[in-house]
Amino acid sequence: MLDADFFHRWMTAAADSVDREANHLTELDSAIGDADHGSNLHRGFAAVRAALDKEPPQTPGAVLMLAGRQLIATVGGASGPLYGTLLRRTGKALGDAPRVARQQLAEALGVGVAAVAQMGGAQAGDKTMLDALLPAAEALGTSFGAAREAADAGALATVPMLARKGRASYLGERSIGHQDPGATSSALLITALAETDGA
Ligand code: ADP
Ligand code: MG
Ligand code: MG
Repeated sequence: MLDADFFHRWMTAAADSVDREANHLTELDSAIGDADHGSNLHRGFAAVRAALDKEPPQTPGAVLMLAGRQLIATVGGASGPLYGTLLRRTGKALGDAPRVARQQLAEALGVGVAAVAQMGGAQAGDKTMLDALLPAAEALGTSFGAAREAADAGALATVPMLARKGRASYLGERSIGHQDPGATSSALLITALAETDGA
């Protein structure tokens, strides 16, 4: 069973990973966006880390809802409200249980991912974060390791896609041949989850 401390450590691992990969994420965003995805998430996850450390929430759901609120409050780009919604809605779906099973997290993450799709109006194949998140939420029903592999494969699969949502869609055909920054950061988030479990 996964407790509040597990979720706190997941968010800290995600913040560490975003710090390490910020330049790479911004490079990807410079090819098909406005070169700010790394700095956006760096700022957002620094706020997540600070808020969680200041007053550690007592349940898994509360950890994710606080993290989501911080992302919405600090990230101006498209990814802030979308990732914020992902974490808030996933956290809300976990309720106030002190511990949750991986299977419950898989179902809650499915709810969070659906909320992202509804908010952004994107679907699978549109070359967005959803191309990593949808397969990851599905595979989390199997194992943490499977979720990680699915997210990585999903991010890689965005390379040949034509962007249909967000700034990259303004490029039309020229968006083809580049990996989507948001799908890449989503894979980092899921990798951080798997590593928190030790997978
Ligand atoms: P901005 O585009 O406002 O500068 P970021 O650079 O931080 O924001 O984030 C860009 C990422 O957000 C994209 O790579 C994509 O994965 C994701 N994104 C953009 N629009 C949408 C959308 N409508 N639905 C889902 N994801 C989206
Ligand atoms: Mg950007
Ligand atoms: Mg921007």
